[in-house]
Amino acid sequence: MAVLEILKYPHPLLKKRSKEVDRIDGKVKKLIHDMTETLYAANGVGLAACQVGIPQRVIVIDVNPIDPQQSLFAVINPEIISEEGEIEYEEGCLSVPDCLEKVKRKAKICVRGISPKGEEMEVSGEGTLAVALQHEIDHLNGILILDRISGLKREIYRKKLKKKKQKEEKT
Ligand SMILES: [Zn+2]
Repeated sequence: MAVLEILKYPHPLLKKRSKEVDRIDGKVKKLIHDMTETLYAANGVGLAACQVGIPQRVIVIDVNPIDPQQSLFAVINPEIISEEGEIEYEEGCLSVPDCLEKVKRKAKICVRGISPKGEEMEVSGEGTLAVALQHEIDHLNGILILDRISGLKREIYRKKLKKKKQKEEKT
């Protein structure tokens, strides 16, 4: 297993739609292991494969630090099959450092996909789990939290990022 590098905004791969996985082979399984290790090393609750540079529809989620009833799982080719209600949730993203913003999400969702063992699976969740699933599926469609907040907030973030980069270049 290996800890992989997490791509950061504005990396172009984060804007692309990831492709469906058509065969679950050793490569995909290794990817899931590496993504899990990367997720834990970064203290995150969810990770999409495109965030580590692999544009395939694979996500890993472990919201256990926030919701102790949940545990780690991976979904391949996840699809939202039902959704209900609305919730506003403060989200961060490992690919968008120093950004914590309230995002409107569905309160409850059900996702269907394939497990790492190749079996069809369904995950239903509300609260943190529902938000994490929507956040990671967004990544597979090239959508970041920055696309879900107001243009003004996005602009403030871009400026903050620019300043940070200029500072780093000087030192
Ligand atoms: Zn993210």
